[in-house]
Amino acid sequence: MLVTLGRRMRTGAMAALLAFAGIGAAHAQSVAFTFDDGPRLEQTPLMSPQQRNRAMLDALAAHKVSAALFVTCDFGATKPAGYALAKAWGDAGHALGNHTMTHLDLAAADVTLARYQQELLDCDRITSTLPGYQKWFRFTYLREGNTPEKRDGMRSFLKERGYRNGYVSLDTSDWRLDEKLTQVLRADPKADIAPIKQAYLAHVKQRAIAYRDLSRKLEGRDIPQVLLQHHNLLNALWLKDVIQQFVDMGWTIVTPAQAYADPVYQLQPERQAPGQSLLLSIARTRGMGKFEGWERIVDDGDFEIEQLEKLESAPAPLGRIDHLPEVDVKAMQGRLDPALSKAVAEAQKSEAPTTPYYQSSPAFNSANSDTMTAAFIAAKVPDCLHSEGLKRQPTFFLTGYLALPFIAIAKLRGKCI
Ligand SMILES: [Zn+2]
Repeated sequence: MLVTLGRRMRTGAMAALLAFAGIGAAHAQSVAFTFDDGPRLEQTPLMSPQQRNRAMLDALAAHKVSAALFVTCDFGATKPAGYALAKAWGDAGHALGNHTMTHLDLAAADVTLARYQQELLDCDRITSTLPGYQKWFRFTYLREGNTPEKRDGMRSFLKERGYRNGYVSLDTSDWRLDEKLTQVLRADPKADIAPIKQAYLAHVKQRAIAYRDLSRKLEGRDIPQVLLQHHNLLNALWLKDVIQQFVDMGWTIVTPAQAYADPVYQLQPERQAPGQSLLLSIARTRGMGKFEGWERIVDDGDFEIEQLEKLESAPAPLGRIDHLPEVDVKAMQGRLDPALSKAVAEAQKSEAPTTPYYQSSPAFNSANSDTMTAAFIAAKVPDCLHSEGLKRQPTFFLTGYLALPFIAIAKLRGKCI
């Protein structure tokens, strides 16, 4: 009797401990990895489609991550070679969702609800034959349509067929940095791509922190985030580093199914933030206007691209000079964001020259990556009344009163604040 009681007490204490640990685990920030637009059979620099697919699967396997691939069937899976790539994801234990046949946009005026629904059904005929098949649908461009009829039509269509909306909460602009990467490599296959890797990691970290903060603001807690990345060269090269960065940040990695079990992913916000995270749609529906950090999560990666272009046009061209003399650093400083140029200068001082090509330039090697990341994250969208605020706007050649209407437009578009 006493033994039983003792055992019961121990069991009880253990249960309390486990419950406590469980509560702790439930509150730890977590993230699930999901990829869109794959598999792709198009040619890119450096790697074949098979190599890209393998590299992404290897990165996930190395970190024991179970992810989801949202298949756009016409990008590859309709052909035997592409079907094999999609099947490799299912065989490796990943989930396979649906991302339409041809990636058309439901928000386009000429795309009817019926046509969009047919695209889902056509792609479903392929994905349903693959291991890992899930009735998960991800809207192309994260847009649920340009009219209430389309939005509600899709919502009831998905419900009738037992499909869930494969929402994204942690939206990244990896596609934009991938465009930059392929452009740089097509111009020069030996270009130093380390700055792009650095910008990508900083971009993901900045978005992760911003969406974690937004989740706390909206839901009063850390929801399991669903990260959006794409099936592309950028991730074939650096997915492993992205995963490692989340691990280093102390985030737990969960499966997409675990994340989608959270009730937040059952919400159907009345007002959409088209092309953006579910969290932004929730914010919009609740009438929350612009909040701190808003500019950097809706900018399509403009900030990182502009920083990279500044580096390219600086006296030390991207990827060509592996050690900058002191005088060039000073010249660069005037042309860069102050936080970034400080990081570059500090990195420059502390590093010895390295061998050229495929080596990080001194400013971007791993020893200094944290400094660079911090600089990217700390930097803000420019003030509208500063000349930088009108960059990428059609008014860079106008000054004075003539520029005023464009300042308003730039502000509205979130290009400056
Ligand atoms: Zn897509």
